[in-house]
Amino acid sequence: MVLPVLVLVAWVGSNAYLGRLSSIPTPFVQEMPDTDSIQRLLVIAPHCDDEVLATGGLIREVLQRGGQVQIVIVTNGDGSFSGTIAEFRKLYPSANDYIHAGSIRQRESLNALAALGVASDDALFLSYPDRGTMRLWEQYWDNSRPYRSPYTKAAQSPYQRTYNPRAVYSGHSLVTDLEAVLRTFDPDTVIAPHPADVHPDHWATGAFTALAIAAQNRTPRPRLLLYLVHRADYPVPRGYVPFAPLLPPARLVNGNTVWGRFTLADESVEQKGVALNAYKSQMPLLGNFLRSFIRQNELFCEPLPQSAPRLSSGQTITPDPSDWQTLDASPVLPVAEDSAHDSTSQELGAGADFVALYAARTETELWISARLRGTSNPLLSYTCLVRAVNGAEVARSRILYPPKLGARPKTEALGPYILARFSLAELGHPHAAVVSFSANYPGGKTIDRIGWVLVNLD
Ligand SMILES: [Zn+2]
Repeated sequence: MVLPVLVLVAWVGSNAYLGRLSSIPTPFVQEMPDTDSIQRLLVIAPHCDDEVLATGGLIREVLQRGGQVQIVIVTNGDGSFSGTIAEFRKLYPSANDYIHAGSIRQRESLNALAALGVASDDALFLSYPDRGTMRLWEQYWDNSRPYRSPYTKAAQSPYQRTYNPRAVYSGHSLVTDLEAVLRTFDPDTVIAPHPADVHPDHWATGAFTALAIAAQNRTPRPRLLLYLVHRADYPVPRGYVPFAPLLPPARLVNGNTVWGRFTLADESVEQKGVALNAYKSQMPLLGNFLRSFIRQNELFCEPLPQSAPRLSSGQTITPDPSDWQTLDASPVLPVAEDSAHDSTSQELGAGADFVALYAARTETELWISARLRGTSNPLLSYTCLVRAVNGAEVARSRILYPPKLGARPKTEALGPYILARFSLAELGHPHAAVVSFSANYPGGKTIDRIGWVLVNLD
């Protein structure tokens, strides 16, 4: 009973709270530096509503001080069963029903963004398949074999409002569209989903964004800020509590990232609430969750740039990075850290639980080593996936452990470490790569993953 009462009190007293939101100190998390200097903000959202949930207040404030904002919405959220069933009162919606639902969600985003001051021409709908972007990233890269949405039955956008109507549903198409947007808009700051968001469209959209930024090969790169929407431990508490600070999950606070809050002006908190009400198809079932993002602050994570150090020639091959010899004799530090005990299957235990990821390069190879909480488990398979960037070229490799005869690249395990070695020539001598390691059941379902993280290889 306590929580509903609190929510009611919060709702009734919201105006009073709104009047003194910014005076309440937020513990643990500092104000994100240099948000005042953002002039050209590009926001990448997996679905229609993430743009406002994550950063509606910042969007409004950048526009208010004369900056420019462009919004990219990757899918139209047309697989959202709750929205569709509420709209059509049908148990088995048809492909056309899903497409109609996606069109409605596009309109809702335009209405919501208008409440924040975004012109409709500044919202770009890429119209890729809802709940399909992970498949594009991992499996459907080439245009020759496009992905087909199980909802709309389409392998290419069926929506009138589509950024690139000729694009087929492939990873190559999506990264190419994102690169085109980056080239045309030339943002100084890009906001995209955090890789630790558990929704596959969210982490995949974040991975695509990192790859597109790296593929541009521009210096300096735009600043990248990451946001969370879906996790069991975020946001806390759930519901409409605008006076409460939005804080990062403790599991995601580590040495590779900087979390910062963006404190909203009171009018921005209020306008964010107005904007969220525009998502009428989502509100009946998800309203409580969506309103959890109306807070005194928005929250971003700034990943530190990561590089793969060069290893000295004649390096002994070992999965343990503490034995790697770098050219400048400095120790190899993780490019990503992952909290222990976060794998979805605790009974498989320490062998399915990643805690750190390392990268280095020799003259001819890229080495990726993952550290588990315990010894690797031969009943599981481990997959190291690398998407390499070399100008416009994007290469992809997948390996399995235990290693199969002749499998490329080569893998080795030692205690809690698993090493995957990729030939740089086979990857096309990339200047950067986006990398991850995952532990999977033999059938392929992922138990835990570390990454995706962008690693510079120059
Ligand atoms: Zn979403």
